[in-house]
Amino acid sequence: MTAPSFPTGSILGYPRIGRRRELKKAVEAFWAGSITAEELESRAAELRRVTRERLTSLGLGATDSSIPEAFSFYDQVLDAAVTVGAIPTRFESLVAADGTIDLAGYFTIARGEGNNTPAEMTKWFDSNYHYLVPEIGPETRFHLASDRLIREVAEATTSGFRTRPVIVGPVTFLLLSKASEGAPEGYQPLDRLDDLLPVYAELLAALTAVGADWVQLDEPALVSESIEVPRAEVLAATKRAYDALGAAPVRPQIFVAAPYGSLDDALPVLGETPVEAIGLDLVRGSLPTGFRTEKTLVGGVVDGHNIWRGDLSAAFDTLEALRSLSPSVAVTSSTSLFHTPHDVADEPLLDERLKSWLAFADQKVAQIATLATGLAEGRGAIQGELDAASAALADRRVAPGVRDGDVRARAAALTEADFARGDYAERLAAQEAALHLPFLPTTTIGSFPQTGGIRKARAANARGEISENEYIEFLKSEIKSVVELQERIGIDVIVHGEPERNDMVQYFAEHLDGFAVTQNGWVQSYGSRCTRPSILWGDVAREAPITVEWSAYTQSLTDKPVKGMLTGPVTILAWSFVRDDQPLGETANQVALALRDEIEDLEAAGIGIIQVDEPALRELLPLKKADQPAYLDWSVRSFRLATSGVAPKTQIHTHLCYSEFGVVIDAINKLDADVTSIEAARSKMEVVPDIQHSGFARGIGPGVYDIHSPRVPSVEEVTDLIEIALGSIPERQVWINPDCGLKTRGYDETVASLTNVVAATRAVRERV
Ligand code: GLN
Ligand code: ZN
Repeated sequence: MTAPSFPTGSILGYPRIGRRRELKKAVEAFWAGSITAEELESRAAELRRVTRERLTSLGLGATDSSIPEAFSFYDQVLDAAVTVGAIPTRFESLVAADGTIDLAGYFTIARGEGNNTPAEMTKWFDSNYHYLVPEIGPETRFHLASDRLIREVAEATTSGFRTRPVIVGPVTFLLLSKASEGAPEGYQPLDRLDDLLPVYAELLAALTAVGADWVQLDEPALVSESIEVPRAEVLAATKRAYDALGAAPVRPQIFVAAPYGSLDDALPVLGETPVEAIGLDLVRGSLPTGFRTEKTLVGGVVDGHNIWRGDLSAAFDTLEALRSLSPSVAVTSSTSLFHTPHDVADEPLLDERLKSWLAFADQKVAQIATLATGLAEGRGAIQGELDAASAALADRRVAPGVRDGDVRARAAALTEADFARGDYAERLAAQEAALHLPFLPTTTIGSFPQTGGIRKARAANARGEISENEYIEFLKSEIKSVVELQERIGIDVIVHGEPERNDMVQYFAEHLDGFAVTQNGWVQSYGSRCTRPSILWGDVAREAPITVEWSAYTQSLTDKPVKGMLTGPVTILAWSFVRDDQPLGETANQVALALRDEIEDLEAAGIGIIQVDEPALRELLPLKKADQPAYLDWSVRSFRLATSGVAPKTQIHTHLCYSEFGVVIDAINKLDADVTSIEAARSKMEVVPDIQHSGFARGIGPGVYDIHSPRVPSVEEVTDLIEIALGSIPERQVWINPDCGLKTRGYDETVASLTNVVAATRAVRERV
């Protein structure tokens, strides 16, 4: 009997959170203790059932392995860790006698408990998704510790489906892991490959037993150049891993998927292993040259990472070109579709014309089904669909708002002078004369607690239950109380607290031309956390001032300097779905120009300090080294374009959410902000030596209060952190602030913590 061939049309993965975020709600209900583990399991099973049926109705085959079995309660990397028994030792008590871990234990690894810190969370390739970093050491005892994936395949089989189980592949799993705390110097998780492979082999056998014809092993780490392990070792590990799994006595056919970029030199390596199919990201990567194989090549030609309908005809051309590399070609998404929302049809309020240019997950599945038909029956069979997609694309090119003559003329007229602020020493002198700030100035990052009251008022305003005026009065009273609170505590630079913002990007998207916002366009950011990115579809322009009235009102309440608060161009792009018809740098400059106008208006309204947040400065950093300089260039330039229209005496701040200062010091330097605040409390100022060694000469606020936890830091603790900072950074550069905004905190802990921060600052001021 010949083995079943790879399905002609499939997807690498599908949103798992549910159309109405059902999984989020169920998981959070479980955490809150309001539903049992059994109830959570049954709601998840229901979601999987709905997903399989939905995918079948969209054109994927129910029994030909085209439907991925890719559910996760929290994170696919944590799933892989739990499957192979890689539980950090601090969570050992969660492991049952038979080596397994229950759902509550699984979530505990993700979220921490008591003094046991959760697994570290970090960015998944060049996306806005965050995974949990496995910890591997000599003590890790790999064994098949979870049969969850096996049960899910069995569940599908029982209900008449034949799905394709998906799991993170062994090489990527180890490359994304970090050495556990006790591991010896120089230890790397990849050293454990040979111990891990038998567990994967055992899993493959078990998946075969429950009916899997194919298994998908995700190996995105093979496309990334940001992996610390030398490439030669990565390639050798790839060869060893897939030779070994290929030789497993009982196994499904193996499909190795490599989303997020081209495989480059890893492709011939995989080509020489016994795997049966290889997935290529042909959206980010291009058609490989000089490679031929008898294996099935699965072309990822439908972009899993954005929401555009795209050029279906070009996608089909690419598939046809792929046929010169292999006699067996199939079509899939470039990445899992979990980066996209479910369904454009869930957006009744979106403009119909805009909708005709969009494809969310369900539309992409339908596109793939179309392309699969084309592969099977020839282009003629799908010509109508190809033409319709081309027509939508042509319509998008000429639709009003996509290209705005004024916006384009302004961008075209920019000169180098528009990107530069002039000498820092001169600025510093002018700012000192204008602002009269004390030594070690204290401030916050912008937001104050978003209370239930604020959310309720916003919702009531959106539903029209309270008038615009009542809402504005409500926000003003919020601002007033936040200002009074800061004055009472003794903070030097005052913020308005951002009560008017639902989200730091969406708020600006709602006030700028060229953006649309969705109602149900949720995507998973991590765990149960979802975001609803705005759609940046046209040329960006600012019709009217956005934040000026709020900031001016705030300044009218206090004699202390008020800090205006904006979101920077890179972050606005990184957290939106951005048009794909022009280089990102061009779009960034349009956003920057709108912000530049806002900043000039703030300055004219008497706001002397303006913070432009760029927490996502690194988020879009390309995975391939050759592409990185261009990215760093346009991202930095767009920030400078936004901020360099002001007078020397106006102080520009920026805030970055992470603490790997060393990695981006060059970019931070080039941003040329007068003051930069970063996260530092949780790592106990680990970043300070990097700042010192870099010779960074402008204002710097390493966070002294970890806002990610409700814990109130003591005066002594904060004092210690300030002393560490002062030990290495010249005194006059140092600012005192929390790690990030306070929007997720409650008022009691915020007041207590800020009070301690100010007390610590005063103590240090007296000593120095
Ligand atoms: N100004 C924003 C706030 O305080 C910054 C948030 C962020 O860095 N993510 O909430
Ligand atoms: Zn932050």
